[in-house]
Amino acid sequence: MSLAKTVALHTLGCKLNYSETSAITRLLEQDGFEKREFTEVADVYVINTCSVTDNADKECRQLVRRIQRKSPGSIIVITGCYAQLKPEEIASIEGVDLVLGAAEKFKITQHLKDLTKGNSAKICSCDIEFDTSFSLSDRTRSFLKVQDGCNYNCSFCTIPMARGKSRSNSIENIITQVKQLAESGVKEIVLTGINLGDFSPPQTPDRGGLQAQNFFDLIRKLDQAEGPERYRISSIEPNLLSNDIVEFVANSKKFMPHFHIPLQSGSNKILGLMRRRYRKELYADKVHLIKKLMTHCAIGVDVIVGFPGESDEDFKETYDFINHLDISYLHVFTYSERDNTAALQIKPVVPMSVRNERNKMLRNLSYRKQNAFIQQHLSETRKVLFEQRNKNGLMEGYTDNYIKVTASYKEEWVNQIVDWKI
Ligand code: SF4
Repeated sequence: MSLAKTVALHTLGCKLNYSETSAITRLLEQDGFEKREFTEVADVYVINTCSVTDNADKECRQLVRRIQRKSPGSIIVITGCYAQLKPEEIASIEGVDLVLGAAEKFKITQHLKDLTKGNSAKICSCDIEFDTSFSLSDRTRSFLKVQDGCNYNCSFCTIPMARGKSRSNSIENIITQVKQLAESGVKEIVLTGINLGDFSPPQTPDRGGLQAQNFFDLIRKLDQAEGPERYRISSIEPNLLSNDIVEFVANSKKFMPHFHIPLQSGSNKILGLMRRRYRKELYADKVHLIKKLMTHCAIGVDVIVGFPGESDEDFKETYDFINHLDISYLHVFTYSERDNTAALQIKPVVPMSVRNERNKMLRNLSYRKQNAFIQQHLSETRKVLFEQRNKNGLMEGYTDNYIKVTASYKEEWVNQIVDWKI
């Protein structure tokens, strides 16, 4: 192929995918590509897919069709979880030239070198290793991947198939990366992973023996190392959120008072069917401990509604459980069937109309929880990190405890931590 020089990228899915798209962009830029917006014409288009997003295949097909209409001669590359899970299906989409699995996506420049626009797509997918990635689109905040993959087997989830077994970066590498990010001006780093609490870096020799390290070791070392002013922990399973971690965050100046803890259901029966590794009582204990030590702490909760077998009573149990919990906001997901998952065997299936109704009820509850949380902090002065973008004369930022603030744009506040009365 004549060497393509412009590339446009699009991300579907989670924060981890965003940080990986940033890493892929940097690799392509180092190889001489110029980045274009996805809406513009480019020589190469890359779509980083997700297997958790509903209708991943539909979204992917639509994007490919749009590219073909706009720029029929461009190379189209599909990567990410969906590409790892269903490479053949993606390769059969008309217009797709290259399908890169989880390990191959960071070798994209090599793959592009000997590729020509043709009638069939080349599939490259092999074993999955750990690849470093972080996002750096806006210098204020960066999402840094420290762990990938998952050894759990939740019955609804395709991530272990798509991203492989749990693996982690070494603490030494992470310390080097955070130092570099801070030197480039990043003020806040969000530690991300698929199952972050399962962080277990390659073992290092220590006083003659091999020493196993965990997520608690990582945050303690980061707290002492040179790095940004702020850290956030993106999402952590309740059974892996140890009391040590909570107590540490409560006393740290660098780790922000904010946890995101997947609950998925407030019914122990449904948690069992989901093969989650905790019960609601443990979840409630964690929330109580956090709020006892940090009354101002934000707590976000993931919930899935309409899981097979979820009766009206089970849903009510979930609703009441969350309603009584001192949490700050919810991310509500409607259960959707995924190929090759154990949940497909569970009956009865919940009708889609009921799933949608339950989703609406929990979104309303989330709205009330979020408002109540903000009300609790009105008139307080909290530290806000303002971001770069000027949106019609306004700028946005987040407090330490994740309250979004909008202010009149002031250039001197960009990427600064400012005392702000809420
Ligand atoms: S913990 Fe469960 S839901 Fe989360 S990635 Fe692992 S298998 Fe999927």
